[in-house]
Amino acid sequence: MAKLKILEFPDARLRTKATPVEVVDDALRAFIGELFETMYDAPGIGLAATQVDVHKRLLVADVSVDKDEPHVLINPEILEKDGVTVTDEGCLSVPGYYEEVERAEHIKVHFLDRDGAEVELDAHGLLAVCIQHEMDHLDGKLFVDYLSEAKRQRIRKKLEKERRQQGAVVA
Ligand code: ZN
Repeated sequence: MAKLKILEFPDARLRTKATPVEVVDDALRAFIGELFETMYDAPGIGLAATQVDVHKRLLVADVSVDKDEPHVLINPEILEKDGVTVTDEGCLSVPGYYEEVERAEHIKVHFLDRDGAEVELDAHGLLAVCIQHEMDHLDGKLFVDYLSEAKRQRIRKKLEKERRQQGAVVA
């Protein structure tokens, strides 16, 4: 398995709206393995396919302390949401920044698992927040979109400057 390169804000490819996964096969499962490896290595608690420039509706998450509760959500759809929770969120695509974001505390979400079986999951707290954050990625949305325009521009400028200093090409 190989570690994948994570796109970083303000890369325009992060704004792509992902399309549904049509077949759950061994090739997809191999990609899921790479997503987990990339997420655990980063380290992060969730990763959407969009973040590695694959625009399919697929995300992985593991919010457990021991990193032994992996979740794979293929073509996720939120059926119900309620409650409110505010979390200091970060994102592997916006490295080094953490800001408070308000989201539903509980979601009921429908998806296909890695075998293509239909699953309905009730998620609360951090797992619910993580899934909502990753599902935003599949729609081309980032947590910085919930912040003020001024704050988002500040983060964008700082990240672009850091990348220039590293000699990277800023797209
Ligand atoms: Zn993210």
